[in-house]
Amino acid sequence: MIVHMSTPEARPFLRGSQLNWLARYVLLREHLAGSEQSLLEVGSGHVGVSCIVPHTFVGVDVAFESVPVRSMLPFAYDGTRLPFRDGSFHTVISMDTLEHLPASRREAFLAELLRVAATRVIMGSPTSTGTAVAHADDPVVRLVQKLGMPEPQWMHEHDEFGLPRPSDVEAALDVVAGQAWRWRSIPTTNDLINLLAILTDLTPGTLATTSVFLEGYPAEVEAWFRASTFGPCNRKVYLLEAHDARAPLVDLTSVDSLLGALVCPRCTGSLAIHGLSMNCVLCGTAYHTDARQVTRLTLP
Ligand SMILES: [Zn+2]
Repeated sequence: MIVHMSTPEARPFLRGSQLNWLARYVLLREHLAGSEQSLLEVGSGHVGVSCIVPHTFVGVDVAFESVPVRSMLPFAYDGTRLPFRDGSFHTVISMDTLEHLPASRREAFLAELLRVAATRVIMGSPTSTGTAVAHADDPVVRLVQKLGMPEPQWMHEHDEFGLPRPSDVEAALDVVAGQAWRWRSIPTTNDLINLLAILTDLTPGTLATTSVFLEGYPAEVEAWFRASTFGPCNRKVYLLEAHDARAPLVDLTSVDSLLGALVCPRCTGSLAIHGLSMNCVLCGTAYHTDARQVTRLTLP
């Protein structure tokens, strides 16, 4: 029986959070200091880091399957060069996105994360060491098939390009970090807890039960994840810090600063608000915001 274990310092999770989201994000929280007004998540999906932080952030993804959370300023974009000026954001994070790119594009992707960051980048990805079990998703794939459930899209994407090897990711980090950044691996939730979280989340009807824990006992849930970094862990997470931290261009308390940091994906010209769209002052391309508040920067 659990009675009043939560402490006053407990920070609640976004309502409706899934366990596998928290397994991915909770251990990042201690590395997000200073990012409150200037945070970019690349490959955010419609929830992203909002499951652990309440403040406004910018989310970029190829597409948004569901309506993005209210705290996100969402941009749909599928290009290789991020549409922001150098040093735009205090902190840039990208979780479980690298593996969705072909191996030939991964180093350039990491370089882009660093280019638009002023102080810090946190990057995480499932990896494979090439052993007999290709990756930790395999038991989940089998269970999903046995239950006759539709397979989540990410299962196929992992297979399409192959998971990166940790040694390849770290070699790429050495290259892109150069003399300006230092990087290190940081702890993350292990394979066992990730697997249990995914199995729980995929089982119909479990959200009603898990939400009782997540809303009533967030401190305990966070402590459980923090204690679960032992043993095998396919997901690797890296913290990169600039040797000379700069003031970011973007302060999300001011929409003007975000507009000033955005550049036209077609020509890198400045963008200006023009009625209900943003127009490039150089090439004239217009970018529109849809009914879900997603601004579409993907070029036609
Ligand atoms: Zn342009």
